[in-house]
Amino acid sequence: SYVALPKPPEPFTSPEIRCNKIFINNEWVNSVSGKTFKTINPATGDVITEVAEGDKADVEKAVAAAKEAFKFGSPWRRMDASKRGYLLNKLADLLERDRTYIASLETLDNGKPYTHSYAFDMEGTINVLRYCAGWADKIHGKVIPMDGDVFAYTRHEPVGVCGQIIPWNFPVLMFMWKIAPALATGNTVILKPAEQTPLTALYCAQLIKEAGFPPGVVNVVPGFGPSVGAAISHHNEIDKVAFTGSTEVGKLIQQASGASNLKRVSLELGGKSPNIILDDVNIDFAVENAHFAIFFNMGQVCCAGSRTFVQESIYNEFLDKSATRATKRVIGNPFDLSVDHGPQIDEIQLKKIQSFVESGKKEGATLVTGGSRVGDKGYFIQPTVFADVKDDMKIAKEEIFGPVQQIIKFKDLDELIERANNTVYGLASGVFSNDIDKINYLIQGLRTGVVWVNCYNAMTGQTPFGGYKMSGHGRELGEYGLQAYTEVKSVIIKVPVKNS
Ligand code: ADP
Repeated sequence: SYVALPKPPEPFTSPEIRCNKIFINNEWVNSVSGKTFKTINPATGDVITEVAEGDKADVEKAVAAAKEAFKFGSPWRRMDASKRGYLLNKLADLLERDRTYIASLETLDNGKPYTHSYAFDMEGTINVLRYCAGWADKIHGKVIPMDGDVFAYTRHEPVGVCGQIIPWNFPVLMFMWKIAPALATGNTVILKPAEQTPLTALYCAQLIKEAGFPPGVVNVVPGFGPSVGAAISHHNEIDKVAFTGSTEVGKLIQQASGASNLKRVSLELGGKSPNIILDDVNIDFAVENAHFAIFFNMGQVCCAGSRTFVQESIYNEFLDKSATRATKRVIGNPFDLSVDHGPQIDEIQLKKIQSFVESGKKEGATLVTGGSRVGDKGYFIQPTVFADVKDDMKIAKEEIFGPVQQIIKFKDLDELIERANNTVYGLASGVFSNDIDKINYLIQGLRTGVVWVNCYNAMTGQTPFGGYKMSGHGRELGEYGLQAYTEVKSVIIKVPVKNS
């Protein structure tokens, strides 16, 4: 791995459910309708608990709270920027304290291996909080030498009330990717977790209260997309919406902005990322990394390396080794420390992946390994490898969001750049080679928001992340991501005389 990750302690295999209501104004409330919905353990199909089901009326309450918290002169608006950074660091301390519990809760609700939720997800979650905490009092405007007898400067102000809608594949990580930059820059938030995985976001809301954030600064409304999500994206008093999820829903979010108040929109959407293996590589190293690029998190990763392009002369050896590597994944109970492959999130996704596998077979790709469901409880599917994949096959064009590797042959770099870019998406790409000239050539040719060279899925709070084309708009994280949570105000003051 590109970064050393900690070894996890034993998990809580039945973590107690402490928070399952709606969080508004630092208080836990039932939904206005009184309705609840079930959240399911994907490893067993069993109901974990009932969660309060928000709707439009609950979003109204949350918006009122977030507006009040953002009011001119409020404790949050009057707070020193350094104190906002302190509170974010305090929240990170609490996540460190409860790391084993939160990682266990994530595994229960999402199905991802506990070793991953403890190491990758919690590491990234704490990292992004600390990164944004450090920025809070370092966001500067500029003094500008404007023509005329004036003193001109810029203020970087919070955008205001921010709606945030997140998916189920990295629930706690996405929660912090969204709220940390918003809070560092002084905004207030109404967040909707995914209906499949509301539990860690709700528990973290309790920690936000414990850390000492004022009431109304963060509000969490669990519920479904067409109700809570649509109410957020159509709301006239929400100043910005940040969304991570499918391209299909991303389009609805942008349309809702246009149909309502032109709220700012940032979108992080789907992908079909090319991962390019040149013939000068150490094959074992490239096989391992290409495996990780597609199978990490059971393939449920927006930037997954889902088109593995392999140069002709090493294609057969790469294919054999990749198939062998895929069969070595340990499938099973995600709480088991030896397991590295859990279930898919739900039955809908499982069926969708199975239908992609069928279409691959029908369109003439060679199924080298996997392709079947494992067991009849939970939503497990075998790690799957396809060879002889052609660019126009459905499995090479559409996002599968599952553990299915497409291995595609290419001859030379010019043909390759065109083929790699021949997609509606542009989120990520990977290049494996030791030839600096070829690497640089590809870096310039690939139309993607990130290019990983001799590594894959490397991401932390410091580096911007986002897509070209239909993979989204704007960037999250890094300095660029913080800018997306500020408005720039030019202040121009008449002065009696100005000298240089
Ligand atoms: P996925 O395929 O990863 O489930 P979705 O785009 O369907 O991606 O879901 C991502 C998030 O968007 C979830 O929180 C979901 O509830 C929400 N969502 C779904 N439909 C809508 C909608 N019409 N408006 C706003 N949010 C929605």
